[in-house]
Amino acid sequence: MALKLVLFGRQGAGKGTQSALLAKHYGAPHVSTGDMLREAVAEGTEFGRQAKQYMDSGALLPDEVMLGVITERFAQPDVQANGFLLDGFPRTVGQAEGLLGITDVDLAVNLEVPRDVVLERLSSRRVCANCGTIYSLAEPPTHPWTCDVCGGEVVQRADDTAEAISARLEAYERDTVPAIAIFGQRGKLETIDGLGRPEDVSARLVAAIDAHLAR
Ligand code: AMP
Repeated sequence: MALKLVLFGRQGAGKGTQSALLAKHYGAPHVSTGDMLREAVAEGTEFGRQAKQYMDSGALLPDEVMLGVITERFAQPDVQANGFLLDGFPRTVGQAEGLLGITDVDLAVNLEVPRDVVLERLSSRRVCANCGTIYSLAEPPTHPWTCDVCGGEVVQRADDTAEAISARLEAYERDTVPAIAIFGQRGKLETIDGLGRPEDVSARLVAAIDAHLAR
């Protein structure tokens, strides 16, 4: 079955970790616009150079640009065959409406983690620069700071600074909360408690998704 799922949640709520677990469970590709943009930055393309300016300050790229990125990604065979687990898109009402104009969506889930908890998580977050595996100061890789999965270098994200974190959380309240509401109005939203061990949160997510799809 091709699952079409949107994962909402504040920065640091665990969307990346949970998307990876859900991708394994449901076999749908994890589509993270943040990861795609970071790849473009790493490749040093002209698009990547422009994207970096927005990203480093914690600002959102324009809706038309992001809709172009998603439309291109959705044309690829893995999404065509197996659906998607969208992480970091849509981020605005314009993006949500654009998305629903190009595809139907089975369900959106909102991973609820309070602001004070994500602030703490973001400042201690460390990420593999090569494969994206997420660590923290409290849970480093076995050999600091080399990734357990791929041997890549584990670093702090350029936008996990105090100023950028605060700008991103503000954008979330201002732009993304209204986008979440669009899925609520359509009866396609489940809110999940995102606190606790990743495997417990994942079990909660799977239970809510399966229950919704069985309706
Ligand atoms: P993320 O890893 O999802 O937190 O994304 C990192 C940064 O990439 C964001 O702070 C934005 O600058 C940019 N970005 C990612 N996804 C989007 C999107 N859907 N719309 C606009 N900007 C985005």
